[in-house]
Amino acid sequence: MLVNHFPLNSLKNNFTLAPGFLNCIGERKNAVRSHKEVIIIGGGVIGLACAHYLLDSGAGVRIIEKSTIGSGASHGNCGLLCFSDVIPLCSPGTVSHEMARTLKRTSPLYIKPSLDINQLAWLLKFALKCTESHKLKAARGKYEILNYSMGLFDSLLSLDEIKCDFEKKGMLTVFKNKKNFEHYKATNAFLDTYHMGAKRIEKEELLALEPALCDDIAGGWLNPADWHLRPDMLMASWRKQLSQKGLIIEEYCSLIDFDIQGNSLAGVNTVKGRFKADYIVMAAGAWTPVALRQLKLDLPVLPGKGYSITMQRPGACPSHPLSLYEKNMVVTPWKSGYRLGGTMEFSGYNDVLSPKRLSNLVSGATAFLKEPLGNPVIEHWSGLRPMTYDDLPVIDRSPSHENLMIATGHGMLGLTLATGTGKIVCDMINDREPEINIKPFGMNRFR
Ligand SMILES: Cc1cc2nc3c(=O)[nH]c(=O)nc-3n(C[C@H](O)[C@H](O)[C@H](O)COP(=O)(O)OP(=O)(O)OC[C@H]3O[C@@H](n4cnc5c(N)ncnc54)[C@H](O)[C@@H]3O)c2cc1C
Repeated sequence: MLVNHFPLNSLKNNFTLAPGFLNCIGERKNAVRSHKEVIIIGGGVIGLACAHYLLDSGAGVRIIEKSTIGSGASHGNCGLLCFSDVIPLCSPGTVSHEMARTLKRTSPLYIKPSLDINQLAWLLKFALKCTESHKLKAARGKYEILNYSMGLFDSLLSLDEIKCDFEKKGMLTVFKNKKNFEHYKATNAFLDTYHMGAKRIEKEELLALEPALCDDIAGGWLNPADWHLRPDMLMASWRKQLSQKGLIIEEYCSLIDFDIQGNSLAGVNTVKGRFKADYIVMAAGAWTPVALRQLKLDLPVLPGKGYSITMQRPGACPSHPLSLYEKNMVVTPWKSGYRLGGTMEFSGYNDVLSPKRLSNLVSGATAFLKEPLGNPVIEHWSGLRPMTYDDLPVIDRSPSHENLMIATGHGMLGLTLATGTGKIVCDMINDREPEINIKPFGMNRFR
C-alpha cells in the first residue's frame, strides 16, 4: 500500500541529512513541532471552512473526500445564511404540531417506519428535548455561534474573492393564514430578545415589495439578519481559493480506517493509501457516525433528507429569499438561478428522489407564487442533513483520541454555521481558547 506524507514528513523520511543540517533541525525543533499537519475527512462546507482557518494559521491541510468536493448536503441546499435562526427545532409544541400536520397530510416531515434502535432512541430523545428549558438553553448556544459565524462570513465574503451570488437582502417569511401571521408576533418577540427580530409587513406593502407573490397572502415578516448565496458556486470558488493557498485535495478517496496508536491517531488508511497527520478532523456530515464506528464513538447524528429543485429564474421572480410558512419550504432567488427546497425525511442513508416530495415542493410554491417555476429545470436533488436530537452541532475533541476533532451535526444550519465552526476547530487545534463558549457543542452532553 502507498504511504503518503506531507512534504515535511517526506523530507524527514526519505532524505539522508548532512550533520550540519541535523543541528539546524535541532535548533529549529520547536518551530518544526508547532507546524501542524491536519487531515480533514469530508469535503463539505464544514470541511472547507476548517481548511480555510487552518491554512491561514500556517497548518498543512489535506482533505479526504469519498466523492467530490461539495457533493454532499453542501451542494443543493437553500443557500440561506440564516443568522436569525436562534430557536431550536425541538421546542414546546413541535411534536404535537407535526403529529397534527401528519394526520392532515400537510407535514413536510416523513419518518419511515423502522425498528432501527438508533432512530427510535434519537426520536425519543428529540421529543424529550421539546421543553421550554431546552429551548432557552439551546437558543443561547445557537445565538453565540450564529452571531460569531455572521461576523466571520462578513469578513470572508466582503473581499469579493469568493464568487457565489452573495446578497444581504434579509429573508421574508410569508403567511397565507391570518392567524399564523398574527401568532408569529410571539416568535418575533423571542427573536427580539436576541436583537434578531424581523419587521412586520402588512399585505399591501408586501405585495408592492414582492409582486411575484399571489394576492391571497396574509402578510409577512422581513428579517434583515439573514443573507443568502448560491451554495454550489460557494463550494467551487472557495475550493479554488484554498487550493491556491496550498490545500491538498484527495477526491474519490474513501476513509477505510484510522491508524490508532494508543490514545491518539497516527493517520488514516484510505482507498488511495495511507496518510499521516498530527490532527484529524471528522467533518463527514451525516456519514460521521458511520466513519467513527471503528473508534466505538457513539455519535447520535441521523441523516435528515431534504430535497431541492433548481431552475432558471422565472419571469416573475421574487427578489428576496422566501420562507413559505405553512409549507415549511424555502424559495431562493439568485442572479444566476432559482431554487425551491425543503422537507425532512428520516429514511436512512439513501439518495432516492421521491416524486411525491418533489411535487410537494412544486405545489407549495404554487400556493404562494404567481409564477412558481422557472424553465428549464436544471436539477432535482436530495441531500442528507446531519441531525442531532438537540439541534446543536457537535464541535469538540474526541473523548477517546486526543488528536481527533469532531465537527458535525449542523442539521438545517450547516452552511450558516460553517465559518464559526471552522474557526473554533482551528483555535482548538492550535491550543488557543475559542472566542465563544463551546460548552453547548461538546460531546459530554450525550453521556
Ligand atoms: C434541502 C436542504 C436545504 C438546506 N438549506 C440550508 C440553508 O439554507 N442554510 C443552511 O445553513 N443549511 C442548509 N441545509 C443544511 C446544510 O446543507 C448542511 O447542514 C451542511 O451542508 C452540512 O455540511 P457538512 O460539510 O457537514 O456535510 P456534507 O456537505 O454532506 O459533506 C460531508 C462530506 O463528507 C464526505 N464523506 C462522507 N463519508 C466519508 C468517508 N468515509 N470518507 C471520505 N469522505 C466522506 C461526503 O461525501 C461529503 O462530501 C440544507 C440542507 C438540505 C438537505
